[in-house]
Amino acid sequence: MANTWITDMTHFLNEEGYIVLESGPGLKFTEFLTAIISMISHPPPLPEEFKVRCRRRPQRKPCNGIIKGEEDPETEDLIWWCPECGDNGTISNWQDTIWDLSDAWGAVH
Ligand SMILES: [Zn+2]
Repeated sequence: MANTWITDMTHFLNEEGYIVLESGPGLKFTEFLTAIISMISHPPPLPEEFKVRCRRRPQRKPCNGIIKGEEDPETEDLIWWCPECGDNGTISNWQDTIWDLSDAWGAVH
């Protein structure tokens, strides 16, 4: 039942780096991805409000999973997954988007 979402942030953003979509499920999904970018790039410890809840509703019940994620050291893509339902994906071209917080703490991509 779990899906794998291969995403590239350049597909979601305009030339200024903002989300292209203004409404609808596509925007919700894009906001989910940008929240994951901030979560993974945030310097530890991670504040509670930066944790990302799973957005899936298996059998119409909200999944209680908290998304986990990390940067793939080889591809530099972000890898994320829900430990509860198994929903998972990768995010490429996330570096230097406005949700990338890693510059604030001098991390090297
Ligand atoms: Zn889940």
